[in-house]
Amino acid sequence: MLKRAAATSLVPLALLVACASAPKPSETPSGCDPALWRRASQLHHAATVVDTHTDTTSRILDEGFDMGPRAPDGHMDLPRIREGGLDVAFYSIYVASRFYGDEAPLFAKKPGDDDWPRPTDAGTANGSARRAMAMIDGLVRTADRYPDQMTVCASLEEIRATVAAGRHAACMGIEGGHAIEGQLALLRLFHQLGVRYMTLTHTNHNEYADSCADAVPRWGGLNTLGQKVVKEMNRLGMMVDVSHVSDNAFRDVLAVTRAPVICSHSSMRALCDHPRNVTDDMLRLLAQNDGVVMVNYNCGFVDAEYQKRSSQSSQTRKIQEREARRRLAEGSPELEEALKNLDARFPTPERPELSVLVAHVLHAIEVAGADHVGLGSDFDGVPCVPKGIDDVSYLPRLSYELLAAGQSEETVRKVLGGNLLRVLERVEAVAASLAGEPPYCNDLATDTTPITR
Ligand SMILES: [Zn+2]
Repeated sequence: MLKRAAATSLVPLALLVACASAPKPSETPSGCDPALWRRASQLHHAATVVDTHTDTTSRILDEGFDMGPRAPDGHMDLPRIREGGLDVAFYSIYVASRFYGDEAPLFAKKPGDDDWPRPTDAGTANGSARRAMAMIDGLVRTADRYPDQMTVCASLEEIRATVAAGRHAACMGIEGGHAIEGQLALLRLFHQLGVRYMTLTHTNHNEYADSCADAVPRWGGLNTLGQKVVKEMNRLGMMVDVSHVSDNAFRDVLAVTRAPVICSHSSMRALCDHPRNVTDDMLRLLAQNDGVVMVNYNCGFVDAEYQKRSSQSSQTRKIQEREARRRLAEGSPELEEALKNLDARFPTPERPELSVLVAHVLHAIEVAGADHVGLGSDFDGVPCVPKGIDDVSYLPRLSYELLAAGQSEETVRKVLGGNLLRVLERVEAVAASLAGEPPYCNDLATDTTPITR
């Protein structure tokens, strides 16, 4: 069970002026100051708004989701993206940990083995790279279907041109570094396909980096291959994403990277004690690196109480549901009744207020500085987001709340997207400066060697 977060926010919450929820997010919400709302809306729609993490790609691939029409569920579609003024989104090329498997033996050359390199064995465990490519294809097919509304972008220049033409810029970031199956060659090919960041791990350790989700480390952070992955990303011009990695891996990345890095979707551990969130020390390291933390909206990452209540109730409920299903026949009225009773006894905990999320943004600004904070919603990837930011169309509310909390217009513009675009520009410049450097290559003899810390 997770510890309760210490109340260490440096931001007086009384400063926040929260608007009540309104049915139409584009109208002045009740409780909002109309003049400030107008100012916030104008500022928001004039700014370049960037979100570094949305999982709508998973819906496209797994549910055949169509981003064109307004959907009755989920968080993102083209009409709501327009209303929310979201200019740029990094669509997650998400590869779940279940696709991870060690296929090194399949490709290892054994003495006397003439059948090498081996053909792919159909049905073998690892399909990480294939899954990532299917995700990319899903996004590209969507953009092809709505060419007047969205364009897949792979550089700052393309992003700027797309936004200037009034279209939504769809960028790609791999989530789960096992997508490259331990191969620097695959990293390069994903870069060629337009992927512009990679989250080094998801919830599993992989061939080169440790995840924060498993308390028992595999490498103790990065190994030698992990260092090469980071340097190769620098050389290629891909942003290194340290969301999801272990605290040690975070520090190892910061020690070796030659360009600013991002946390594409992480919140503040000082306000909600979760290993997916960043500590104040990590925030300071990110600021020194000129990187940026993109705040995650997930209820369970911003509100320690919500996280505690939902995990307790879901665990107890799961045990009782399993027992009911064991005792009662599938499809029987008795089982239906028992499940209804469980729903009543274990209601979904109430969602946190928008001010809880805003406190994370303000805390990051106080600790890391206004140049190192942005937004990484995790829309369509999380089951719960705070009240008042129900989907992407509600985004101008965040601009209102930041102005209401006394932040300058300049700071709000930076948080909305300016900071991320600066990091991308710097990452592209570092890659240009490394243009003569040869590519990094795998070396089976040394890749798994621990690094000296
Ligand atoms: Zn994630």
